[in-house]
Amino acid sequence: MSIATTNPATGEVLKTFDAATPAEIDAAIGRAESAFHTLRGTTLEQRAGWLNAAADLLDAERDEVARTMTTEMGKTYASARAEVGKCAAGARYYAANAAGFLADEPADAPAVGARRAFVRYSPIGPVLAVMPWNFPLWQVMRFAAPALMAGNTGLLKHASNVPQTALYLGDLFTRAGFPAGAFATLLIGSAAVEQVLTDPRVRAATLTGSEGAGRSVAQIAGRELKKTVLELGGSDPFVVMPSADLDAAAEVATTARCQNNGQSCIAAKRFIVHTDVYDDFAERFTRRMAALRVGDPMADTTDVGPLATEQGRDDVAAQVRDAVEAGATVLTGGVAPERPGWWYPPTVVADLTPRMRMWQEEVFGPVAGLYRAADYDEAIALANGTGFGLGANAWTRDEQEQQRFIADLDAGNVFINGMTTSYPQLPFGGVKNSGYGRELSALGMREFCNVKTVWVGGEQATPGPGAGHANE
Ligand code: NAP
Repeated sequence: MSIATTNPATGEVLKTFDAATPAEIDAAIGRAESAFHTLRGTTLEQRAGWLNAAADLLDAERDEVARTMTTEMGKTYASARAEVGKCAAGARYYAANAAGFLADEPADAPAVGARRAFVRYSPIGPVLAVMPWNFPLWQVMRFAAPALMAGNTGLLKHASNVPQTALYLGDLFTRAGFPAGAFATLLIGSAAVEQVLTDPRVRAATLTGSEGAGRSVAQIAGRELKKTVLELGGSDPFVVMPSADLDAAAEVATTARCQNNGQSCIAAKRFIVHTDVYDDFAERFTRRMAALRVGDPMADTTDVGPLATEQGRDDVAAQVRDAVEAGATVLTGGVAPERPGWWYPPTVVADLTPRMRMWQEEVFGPVAGLYRAADYDEAIALANGTGFGLGANAWTRDEQEQQRFIADLDAGNVFINGMTTSYPQLPFGGVKNSGYGRELSALGMREFCNVKTVWVGGEQATPGPGAGHANE
């Protein structure tokens, strides 16, 4: 894929970029390595000051950054502005909480024959971040903020269709005060990832993206014995049981499916409805999906903009076509309009069967599949019946049933009477083909730390654990 800004609302190529050469990649890795030696010697207070300064820059530049994101990948301007705000809040969260997350953890010294024993979270070095275009700022910030606070440095390989957002991020942390090279953007295609990951100075990788990209990067990392965190795709179930508040469920279902123009890993994609309320829910949900306003993503009145890429639009259209040809019923939408840009309308498809692509594949656009379940057991079997396990939503006011869903849903994130969302305070990640490892919270910060066991014997002559260390 060429590295370019192409407006998905019009299909117009606005700007193209040359990819970094192998020599330029090598130099950037060198700068990340030398910035690591500087950064690990700084205090958490210094890093927190710089991260808060990055948050202030985001607040001050919110409109401009949001416009760039909307132009590059088509999300509505309102949601882009909200994403910038979320990034600023996420940065401030890690600035405020890193000291607690990284504090030395005392262990039972006498039990291990030590005078002192504790665990220290030490930084490991430059980490490669391979990132997707769908939340082009937030996906990067949720790696960068904890990584930089922990004392690691970052090399960003962003998706090829969001180069201007990538370049903005590459400058942001240096402008905020971090040592030059501590966080840098490499404008490279996916084929150049191997050069970065096989370089001995690069210690680990995080990837957010599709299953295929995850397998490819994990394969290289496995060969190199480097740790990876993988945040991959999802086909989240949204289960509606008879005791649910159907209006609230239909309202949230519509947002959960169509936010970000339907292109979110944790979008609800399969709506599994108990047969007693199926018709009622289907009517309320379809009415709301049909009422969404599709149009110019810069306009305040728009709910759903274009899909980010032509390939993405074609994939969604092909998945719906496949279902219809095999006997599924379209309740609303289902036909891509003839106009420049990559548009697909909010769509609801019923009567799906396991041999249809929509049953097993992730649908990355505003298309909902409706499934009827005879009872709880069938609902759980359907909910868990794909290769993915990222998020899962269940709607029920029956508290015992809530407990059963919490226990039985095979997913990294379970939201009861709500839609899956990411918060800095809560860990985020998946099981099965949705990946492994966690981002956000203290767990996300520690993924790229050396969990260093420290055992100290001999005579007491120095201060106790934690005295005076940055986090090294
Ligand atoms: P993608 O095609 O996998 O691309 C993601 C990133 O990986 C891009 O930077 C891409 O670079 C790179 N890439 C692709 N193939 C690669 C390979 N073989 N080797 C190395 N790098 C490779 O995914 P996308 O279309 O941008 O994003 C949508 C997918 O991401 C969906 O499946 C979605 O569910 C998932 N996602 C998951 C999460 C989560 O937290 N679990 C969050 C957001 C999105 P190029 O652009 O240069 O190809």
